[in-house]
Amino acid sequence: MTEQQTDNKQEPGELGEMGSIIDLGTPVVGGAFDEHNPPDAALIGDCVHCGFCLPTCPTYVLWGEEMDSPRGRIYLMKEGLEGEPMSDEMVSHWDRCLGCMACVTACPSGVQYDTLIEQTRAQVERHHDRSAKDKALRKLIFSLFPYPKRLRLLRGPLRLVQRTGLDQRLRRTGLLERISPQLAAMESLAPRLGKPDRLPPHLPATGQRRAVVGMLTGCVQGAFFPGVNAATARVLQAEGCDVVVPRAQGCCGALSEHNGREDEAQSFARELIDSFEDAGVEHIVVNAAGCGSTMKEYARILGDDPEYAERAQAFTDKVRDVSEILAELGPVAPRHPLEMTIAYHDACHLAHAQGIRAQPRQLLEGIPGLELKEIAEAEICCGSAGIYNIINPVPARELGDRKAANIVATGAQVLVTANPGCLMQVTSAIERSGHPMSMAHTVEVLDASIRGVPVSTMLPS
Ligand code: SF4
Ligand code: SF4
Repeated sequence: MTEQQTDNKQEPGELGEMGSIIDLGTPVVGGAFDEHNPPDAALIGDCVHCGFCLPTCPTYVLWGEEMDSPRGRIYLMKEGLEGEPMSDEMVSHWDRCLGCMACVTACPSGVQYDTLIEQTRAQVERHHDRSAKDKALRKLIFSLFPYPKRLRLLRGPLRLVQRTGLDQRLRRTGLLERISPQLAAMESLAPRLGKPDRLPPHLPATGQRRAVVGMLTGCVQGAFFPGVNAATARVLQAEGCDVVVPRAQGCCGALSEHNGREDEAQSFARELIDSFEDAGVEHIVVNAAGCGSTMKEYARILGDDPEYAERAQAFTDKVRDVSEILAELGPVAPRHPLEMTIAYHDACHLAHAQGIRAQPRQLLEGIPGLELKEIAEAEICCGSAGIYNIINPVPARELGDRKAANIVATGAQVLVTANPGCLMQVTSAIERSGHPMSMAHTVEVLDASIRGVPVSTMLPS
């Protein structure tokens, strides 16, 4: 951070560059935005510019720039509503937002920044002409990540590259970094791949049945962390759930939704509703925080669709993060002791977007012998944020290194979190830190305790 950037920082309660409380007046649609869902003027008006969100905003923490804070970004939305055309600079400040929602948690006025940034991003997608390089990268990402079959096809070549050590050699040459830092970031984030582990469509409860649940297998989770899905199913079975895994399921649309690709997100949402609708399940269980938070938004995403609005609401009502459903049901499977220290990292889309903080901690603390450590600056994003760490590798790396330092400082043996993006981002940052540490999803720890297996099986698959 430069000295000037540090000097620009405001404390909570101070006003930013806009100087005075914004008089919203009458919004003029036609500047930066069209009439289809522009950022909601009433929601913008809820911001009283107190600045309490600033210390939790990762980009403000990094650069100390008002326009890279939630308050500054809201101000730019207001300018756009009042007739200011959409400029490259405006878009760059919105693009730099990680969508981590730490500001939503911190805001005492209940400003719905999550809705505002989703509305803004859809407008940016429609009206901003990105550079050819940016377009090509986004095209590559969106033709790959939301498609589980395409990701599974990648596994073979990726495993070969990893097993022959070609990835490490390529990294040492720095060639990819020189050609494209974004592609280099993508390569460095790829997890070590084990054997694929596809779940059968129906897994019966162990002992007395307490619930029938559907399970989302996910895109990245299914292709790169099949062990997490297998552990999720085993834990649910052990806790008395019949688990249904619809074969036809695809992407939940989270990446598309978070990047303003409105039509694509709606289309994925409709398909996922179709694939679970006849499964006869009471709950739909998700083990990836980003997916769960979007699936809980389907009622809003499809709210204007006469055919799907009601079905989307019914679907949303059934969605549960795996830690949420396990806490709701309460434990019945005996736990074996795990003598170990764990640092638990709150995934932003679990803690900030879904308000789920207590349940995973409660589940982990229920394991005999396990000691839970809290991580300093827990509310600050690790820099993963969907595809942010690929599109914006430099700030993402800084945030990753900051998170890794805080994790290492806990002295824990294992880092536990509940999102594949965080697992990849933190693994990569911890490797760079030179302090080796095992990583695991919350359900992998529970699974190990329930089965009484050695800790070494809890590494990412
Ligand atoms: S978003 Fe909330 S916390 Fe941030 S400046 Fe506005 S009112 Fe204050
Ligand atoms: S979502 Fe995260 S990065 Fe974006 S403005 Fe809010 S705190 Fe900052």
